[in-house]
Amino acid sequence: MPTPDHQRQVARSTRPPTNHSNEWRCTRCDKLLGVSRDGRMHLRFARGHEYFVSFPVVATCRGCGTLNQVTDTAQR
Ligand SMILES: [Zn+2]
Repeated sequence: MPTPDHQRQVARSTRPPTNHSNEWRCTRCDKLLGVSRDGRMHLRFARGHEYFVSFPVVATCRGCGTLNQVTDTAQR
């Protein structure tokens, strides 16, 4: 017997809406630096500037100034 649609949606809603494993956060202050999508890092800055960059990615945290590096999407 197939699972009714509404039950599947309830099961899915127990998960967080965003996949946090894709988020790249500062190692010191946990500020969100970027989000990895489709094998690239999506960086978003003030005033609507957005960048898609390939790995490895190095960026300075705008919160605390720590230099952060990520070599691939599988970083934890
Ligand atoms: Zn920081």
